[in-house]
Amino acid sequence: MPPVIDMEKCNGCGVCDRHCPLDVIYMKEKAPEVRYPEECWHCGACRQDCPTGAIDITFTLAMLGI
Ligand code: SF4
Ligand code: SF4
Repeated sequence: MPPVIDMEKCNGCGVCDRHCPLDVIYMKEKAPEVRYPEECWHCGACRQDCPTGAIDITFTLAMLGI
């Protein structure tokens, strides 16, 4: 599943936009937008690098190789 951003936790820093290797996330003003969810590779960079823990990604068992 593509990333889901909790705007209650987001501080608008833009790290997710800058670190996404596929430009899935774009900053619109100070708000990140998952603009191309179908392009997401689930690399986890946005979730790992978000300083406020605002990003959640659900991995399916198939993605985990289980
Ligand atoms: S990295 Fe996290 S806090 Fe920063 S804009 Fe993205 S979701 Fe918001
Ligand atoms: S999981 Fe990776 S590809 Fe998907 S939005 Fe986050 S940084 Fe981009």
